[in-house]
Amino acid sequence: MKLFKLNPKILGLMAVCTLSFDVSMGQQSASDFHKGLIVVDGHNDVIYESIFPGRDIGKRLKQGHTDLPRLREGGVDVQVFAVWSDDKKFPKGKAFKHANAQIDALEAMVNKYPKEIALVKNSKEVQLALDAGKIAAIIGVEGGNMIESSVENLEVLYKRGARYLTLTWNYNLPWVTAAAIESKTSSDKGKGLSEQGKVIIKRMNELGMMVDLSHVGEKSFYDVMAITTKPVLVSHSNAYALMPHYRNLKDQQLAALKKNGGVIGVNFYSGFLDPGFNDRVKHLYKQHFGAQASDKLSPIRQYERLPLALRRKADAPLEKLLEHIDYLVKKVGIDHVAIGSDFDGIESSPQGLEDVSKFPLLTEALLKRGYAKTDIAKIMGQNFLRILKENENP
Ligand SMILES: [Zn+2]
Repeated sequence: MKLFKLNPKILGLMAVCTLSFDVSMGQQSASDFHKGLIVVDGHNDVIYESIFPGRDIGKRLKQGHTDLPRLREGGVDVQVFAVWSDDKKFPKGKAFKHANAQIDALEAMVNKYPKEIALVKNSKEVQLALDAGKIAAIIGVEGGNMIESSVENLEVLYKRGARYLTLTWNYNLPWVTAAAIESKTSSDKGKGLSEQGKVIIKRMNELGMMVDLSHVGEKSFYDVMAITTKPVLVSHSNAYALMPHYRNLKDQQLAALKKNGGVIGVNFYSGFLDPGFNDRVKHLYKQHFGAQASDKLSPIRQYERLPLALRRKADAPLEKLLEHIDYLVKKVGIDHVAIGSDFDGIESSPQGLEDVSKFPLLTEALLKRGYAKTDIAKIMGQNFLRILKENENP
């Protein structure tokens, strides 16, 4: 897989790329460097936020984090579109249908903008889309609930283009348990992959569908690691050591991920990045609403009620995201860290990274932090593309 997009302009840039970054080269150079990268975001919820509800993402939208013009502005080349279905709202009998309806909506959007974006099913098609100047769209199904415990349903979603399945969202399934539930009980009883769960993992490995372990409980995580024959993806999670939340990975899990050869995509949600986020929100909320402040609201509901300027003040500093990247690189290695922004699935993202158009800022920050250009290329896209390929059948 190529490291950089190979158009003549970029080839020229590649000569520059071998030199170490000089901050005095200024913003222009960082932005040109970003344009030359293949940028892959491994997790975005715009299907839920805008596409399925019927908004036209071909036009710049006032709401949400994502639309095609802003993806272009952000230099995003490959976008994973998450298909998500709340377990409680769409129980068995409805969840698989809901997943298919979301894929229908994504396909309709892609068909409406054939010059802008293409739905791709393997790394070869990624390259073809990029060569044609299009955004490559990959489907990621976020939640094993949508296969309704059926390998046949899994195969249908694979045929439609799903290239990862996040085994759980925040609820347990008959065949696998979730971090949100596992983390609440200390006993190991009833946790992990069932026999049927093992059959599903085996089938995913055979099909060439990445096993995504974001949201998945610790016991389930290790159960998968013990049997998977392919590198796994942790599409949108961070380091527990820096932010102790059940959605983040503990050091021992990171060590297991390194051994497996998998990839973790860093999540942009302030609440998964910054231990100070909730307290900052509570403080700003109380300060702003005074006597009218409600004690009953969760920090995130309080956040939503704050005026924009105060929300921006509450957001995690960009530095927090960089600290997670540094830490993950240290623990798992430079070949195993990627981006899984979670845009449109999160309320608060780091300061300056307000939507998908702002990805160049992250590249610039990594350059300033002293990352080598080839290493930035890995984090911003190559690592994700590598495990996509490693999961594919030849
Ligand atoms: Zn998620």
